[in-house]
Amino acid sequence: MHIIITGGAGFIGSNLILHLMDTYPDYHILNLDKLSYASDPAYLKRVENNARYNFLHLDLVNRKMVRDAIRDFKPDGIFHLAAESHVDNSIDGPEPFVMSNVVATFNILEEFRQYQTGSGKPGDARFLHVSTDEVYGSLGPGGFFTEKSPYAPNSPYSATKAGSDFLVRSYYHTYSMNVITTNCSNNYGPHQHDEKLIPTVIRSALRHEPIPIYGKGDNIRDWLYVEDHCRALDLAFHDGKAGETYVIGGHNEWKNIDLVRQICRIMNAVTGEGPEGDYQNLMSFTADRPGHDQRYAIDPSRIESELGWRPTGTFLNHLENTVRWYIDRYKE
Ligand code: NAD
Repeated sequence: MHIIITGGAGFIGSNLILHLMDTYPDYHILNLDKLSYASDPAYLKRVENNARYNFLHLDLVNRKMVRDAIRDFKPDGIFHLAAESHVDNSIDGPEPFVMSNVVATFNILEEFRQYQTGSGKPGDARFLHVSTDEVYGSLGPGGFFTEKSPYAPNSPYSATKAGSDFLVRSYYHTYSMNVITTNCSNNYGPHQHDEKLIPTVIRSALRHEPIPIYGKGDNIRDWLYVEDHCRALDLAFHDGKAGETYVIGGHNEWKNIDLVRQICRIMNAVTGEGPEGDYQNLMSFTADRPGHDQRYAIDPSRIESELGWRPTGTFLNHLENTVRWYIDRYKE
């Protein structure tokens, strides 16, 4: 099988490539990535010399390069993860989000469609589009996002992801393309860029700098371990129904402030080097993010019942492993 992964040098993409290479000995993977500030090719060191792994440095906004890559590699399927992914950056400058999340998605979707039409097998090969629960906007204290939740994006990031979801949807209804969309909650684990919440908390704590918390820290996120997300993408790609959406989440809601406290407690136990014995002394509240969604939470019943997916392990174990991974990274 020839499989393209876009955005494979980023957080989730690199974890997904390692998962697929380990799970499927017949997979030949081509990673298409523009190597943005969020990428780190070192994440893929373990496979970089493997004959089944190839990397092509390209910006998906360049349609000619996308066309050539697809026609040369002849993929049997695509996992599309490439995106600008940080909400704060989308507030500071939305244009790269329109280019990488909407235009780039159009380019790879359309070029894959044309390639399949030209090869006489339209609709055969699967296109899995990886999206976010943020497209559904914000929840109040009750309820969950499901596949039927109405779209209500509130940031340029989520608006551009919503735009890409609609393009993918339209290619199923208009061209019968074999597409699936997944909308996942917040991921955590190794390989995430420094700018995101959990790496920021750990890095600030290790340096004895203020640990920034937006507003009162009462925003709620539903945290999923990145390897559980990768297994969900694997299942959706292989067993999911064409044209369907699957929301993915781990029934694991945390207020930001409680999550920060928990990370500090783990760090107290692991390093014992917090100020006056407790990293929580560094917690510091900052002005809230504009348009900050209050709560995200997923009801993953469909992927659980249709595809048999379940998150593995316990949150506290995964979080501790994650904390240890970043401590090693920042102590280098
Ligand atoms: P990331 O920012 O860590 O990595 C994104 C990768 O995509 C980077 O390597 C970057 O260079 C690449 N990329 C971006 N624009 C590109 C372009 N125009 N051409 C080629 N490569 C490009 O992001 P992530 O956290 O790994 O997220 C991956 C996907 O999962 C995104 O689509 C994101 O919306 C989605 N998602 C993320 C989360 C999360 O918690 N991180 C949750 C749900 C969904």
